Amino acid sequence: MLEIRDALFKMACAAREKSYSPYSGFKVGAAILTESGQIFPGTNIEEATYKSICAEASAIACMVSQSGREIIKEVLVVAGEEGDGSLVTPCGHCRQYLREHAGSEMIIHIAGPEGIRKSLTLSELLPYSFGPEDFR
Ligand code: ZN
Repeated sequence: MLEIRDALFKMACAAREKSYSPYSGFKVGAAILTESGQIFPGTNIEEATYKSICAEASAIACMVSQSGREIIKEVLVVAGEEGDGSLVTPCGHCRQYLREHAGSEMIIHIAGPEGIRKSLTLSELLPYSFGPEDFR
């Protein structure tokens, strides 16, 4: 499991390096691990009217574009400066977006450039969520 987390971290950091964030300067990288064992990267992409794409949404778009819909097992998000202690968690929209492709026990790793700072489940970040199985 440590090797998978290391691979997630490295892929998220590499994606973060490609961030297109000229307006905020806030670079974010993400990597998602699916239940089939595939890893997909994402980074934040801004544009002049501030309707940006978050790194998590970017990773989901990469997953669906390359592999179709899969169930996400873990996601790692990296942002901030080394040692600043900040916890850059997925925004509200991304929490729901992740929920669409994951169960409530999916693990979300919040990382800084030095490594994982905290790991949470989706149900901790989005309690009593509404998901695809509720849409009947
Ligand atoms: Zn977001």
